[in-house]
Amino acid sequence: MISEPPNAPQTATRTSEASNLLMPAARAQAEVARLLAEPLPPGLYLVATPIGNLADITLRALSVLARADIIYCEDTRHSLTLTAHFGITTHLAPYHEHNGARERPKIMDSLADGRRVALISDAGTPLISDPGYKLVREAVAAGHKVESLPGPSAALVALTVSGLPTDAFFFAGFLPTKTAARRARIMELQQVPSTLIFFEAPSRVADTIGDLAQVLGARPAALARELTKRFETIERGSLDALAAAGSAREPRGEYVILVSPPVAREITDELIEEQLAEALETQTLRDASKVIAADLGVPKSRVYDLGLKLRAAIRSSFAAPDDVS
Ligand code: SAM
Repeated sequence: MISEPPNAPQTATRTSEASNLLMPAARAQAEVARLLAEPLPPGLYLVATPIGNLADITLRALSVLARADIIYCEDTRHSLTLTAHFGITTHLAPYHEHNGARERPKIMDSLADGRRVALISDAGTPLISDPGYKLVREAVAAGHKVESLPGPSAALVALTVSGLPTDAFFFAGFLPTKTAARRARIMELQQVPSTLIFFEAPSRVADTIGDLAQVLGARPAALARELTKRFETIERGSLDALAAAGSAREPRGEYVILVSPPVAREITDELIEEQLAEALETQTLRDASKVIAADLGVPKSRVYDLGLKLRAAIRSSFAAPDDVS
């Protein structure tokens, strides 16, 4: 009689656990092999790449990058890290804001010759605060196939992890670097009824959060740093609390700033008249209407009409004693 060793069931469980873990790898390999065996049609391929964690590459991204005739990227040395990591040997060529005008005609010629051109950026989704829009516009106008291979984008990764409303969001890219222009842009955005998403350079994060707090008040906000990387951190709190914590923050790494939408409030005629009464002491009706309308998010004509009535009421109240005499 053969007796079972005491640890046999455990060994069997471990073996089946290990093979369960290997199964996705085998399936992924088979899927890439299947994609690689298909011919890649001519066209422009916009390929999203990881924003930090190389394992976030998609199987389709790998298969297109491997089969393309050429990969355009912002910085060839930077993108070589990605392609070398996955054993992709496709030629890399630079396409960025400084050579775009010169390179575009050449890329358009390649597309006209039936070549397969891939476009990637340093990280994330090309065209999102990255080069590519003009190229896509020209390729579309010329009737070439343009295909987007979806993948990571810091804006969406940050939004989903922020804890802020996701039903409507407004991606505002980078704010202007000069203080006055930055504050003016934030004022333009203050009535947008959506979560606001900004990219920001580490050296400017503190100033930008300070300006956001000053213009938008203590709205709930989040600051996402080094997403998908080893030192990913998400700070959540009101804008003024995030601004106050600024000095303790490392001015290094990559940041996305998110701000929740304004609280919806009913804009009554009385509220507008109150603001008009104060503003008309120092401003013309035209200027006051413009500022109040932008501030409250109501049409300028509504504020202007109420201002006319208010002014008429003030005049008639001053005129009353004369009329009586
Ligand atoms: N196209 C890219 C995308 O879709 O994510 C964004 C390119 S934009 C030039 C670079 C900015 O994206 C950074 O300054 C930062 O604001 C944000 N970003 C990129 N990677 C990030 C990461 N891992 N964590 C946080 N923010 C990131």
